[in-house]
Formats: sequence, structure tokens, C-alpha cells
Amino acid sequence: MGTLMIRCPETGRAVSTDISVSREAFAAMPVFFSRTFCPYCRVSHEWFAKDAWVAEAVTTVREQTGRRVA
Ligand SMILES: [Zn+2]
Repeated sequence: MGTLMIRCPETGRAVSTDISVSREAFAAMPVFFSRTFCPYCRVSHEWFAKDAWVAEAVTTVREQTGRRVA
């Protein structure tokens, strides 16, 4: 199980949508779009499923701390 993430179009930072989904379930979803409040811009961004990805909990922590493991 992971968290659905989007990329903020203004800051390029990863934003959690607070939607919990497995990679398998997300891959099986039809195309859709949604709206998520961005804590960096303090506005809601509209996004399409193709722009989103599923981040496992560990990956989310790495994003927040800015540390990346190649
Ligand atoms: Zn934003």
C-alpha cells in the first residue's frame, strides 16, 4: 500500500494527495482527474492520473527530507 503523489506544477515538489492506494489498484484505474490542496502554493491543483504516482511510505519520507537513494 502506498500514497498517491502528484508533482506541484509551480514548485516541482512532491505533494501527497492523502489517497492510499496500491500500485496494482492505481495501474488498473481508468483515466481520471482530481484536485489536491498544495501546501506549498496554498491553492488546489488539478491533476490527471497520468501525472500521479504511488509512493511507498519510505519513499515519501525520502521526499520530505530531500534525501534520495539512487
Ligand atoms: Zn503547488
